[in-house]
Amino acid sequence: MPFSQFSLSQKLVAALPDTFRSATEIQTLTIPAILNQQDVLAIAKTGSGKTLAYGLPLLEQLLAVSSHSQALILVPTRELASQVNNTLSLVTQHTKLTSISIFGGVDKEQQKAALAKQPSVIVATPGRLLELLTENAPMASNINKLVLDEADRLLEMGFWTDVQRIIEMLPAKRQTLMFSATFPKLLESKANELLNSPALIEAKKTEDAEPSINETLYLVNKGNKTKALIDQISRHNWRQVLVFIGAKDNADALCKKLNKAGLNTAALHGNKDQAEREATLEQFKQQQINVLIATDLLARGIHVEQLPVVINFELPSSAETYVHRIGRTARAGQKGIAVSLVCHGETEYLTAIRKVTQRELALQELDGFPVTDQPSSGESKRAPRDKQANRRTNKKKSIKQFQGRTKRS
Ligand code: ADP
Ligand code: MG
Repeated sequence: MPFSQFSLSQKLVAALPDTFRSATEIQTLTIPAILNQQDVLAIAKTGSGKTLAYGLPLLEQLLAVSSHSQALILVPTRELASQVNNTLSLVTQHTKLTSISIFGGVDKEQQKAALAKQPSVIVATPGRLLELLTENAPMASNINKLVLDEADRLLEMGFWTDVQRIIEMLPAKRQTLMFSATFPKLLESKANELLNSPALIEAKKTEDAEPSINETLYLVNKGNKTKALIDQISRHNWRQVLVFIGAKDNADALCKKLNKAGLNTAALHGNKDQAEREATLEQFKQQQINVLIATDLLARGIHVEQLPVVINFELPSSAETYVHRIGRTARAGQKGIAVSLVCHGETEYLTAIRKVTQRELALQELDGFPVTDQPSSGESKRAPRDKQANRRTNKKKSIKQFQGRTKRS
C-alpha cells in the first residue's frame, strides 16, 4: 500500500526515501491501528520495516497534538538506539519534531540537558535511561507513548526489570506498543501485563511478495469426499489440479473413481517406479493429464509453474505440511486457489493449521453436499460390524492423534 493512502501528513511521507514506494506488510497493518490510539502487539521478522511501522504513526500523532507529548522507544542495544534515532530524525527533518538517543558510555550531563529540552522522541537503552530518570523523575511526566522495540531481545538480555521500573515512572494513561521478531511464552505474559486490549498484528513469515492464495475449506461428510472432489473439479472446469491425499493406498482407488467420472487423472506415489513417476509428471505438465493425485512425499519433487489449483482431499496431520501444500499454487505472484475437503474427524488438524497460519479458515458448506455426519466421529452410532473392524478403526485413530500432537509440539 502506498504511504499516501494512510492518514499521514505529507511532511512525513515526503521525507521518506524515494525507494520506499509502498509500505511493508507490517507497516500496512500497524499504522492505522496506532493512529487509532490503540495499544499494539506486533510480530514481524527482522528486516520487515518495524521501525517505521511504529515510527510514522507515532510521529504523526506527536505532530497533531499541541500539548507537550513525548514518545519513548526502548531498545536493547546502543547500536539500535542510534539506528532508530537516525531513521526517525530523517523523517522529522522538515517538522518541528525532535528526536534524541540515550545510551550508556556517553556523557550523562549532556544527555540530561538533551532530555530537559523535552524532545518529541527519546530512543533509549533501558539502563542509562533509568539512571537519568532516577535522578530526575519529572522528566518522564510527558511520556504518554511507549514503544518496546525488539521486545524479545529486551527480555532475553535481562533488561525487563529496568524496563518495568521505567514504566512505573511514566504516566499510567498512555499508548503502549510492543514490537518483536519472535513471541516466546514469557513475552506473552509480559504483553498481557503491559498492554491494554491490544491489536494483535502478525506479519507473515516472508516479506518477499508472498503470493495470495484463496483458501476455501468445505465441511463435508467423510463418505462424500470423492463426489465432492469430482463436483469441484467439474464445476469449475479446472484444467490442472493437484490433489493431496494422506495415504498412498487410497491414491489409486481415488484415481480410478475420478477417471470413471471422466476426469483425466493419474496418481503419483511411492509404489510407482521412477520412470513411471517422471512420465506421469511430464504428462501433467503438458496437461495431457488434468488431475494429479499425490502423497506429500512425492509432491516434494513436483515443480509445475503456476499451478492454479491445489485440493486437499484430506487435511494433513501437520500444519506445516498444509502450508507447504497450498504453497504449490499461486507461484510467481499469481493468485492461486486452495480447496480443502474437511470432515468432522479432521477438526483437530484444522485447529492446528489455524494456529500456525493465524488465519480464520472458516468451514463452509458445499452446495449439494449437506453435512449429516455428527461431530463426535469417534463413536459411531451404528454398531460396529465386527470386533476386528472396530479394533482397526481405534488403532488408526490413536496413531493419527499421536502424530498430530508430536508434529505440533
Ligand atoms: P526491522 O526493525 O523489522 O528489522 P527495519 O525497520 O530496521 O526493520 O527496516 C529494515 C530495512 O528496510 C531498513 O533498511 C529500512 O530502511 C527498509 N525499509 C523500511 N520500510 C521500507 C519500505 N516501506 N520500503 C522499502 N524499504 C523499507
Ligand atoms: Mg527493528
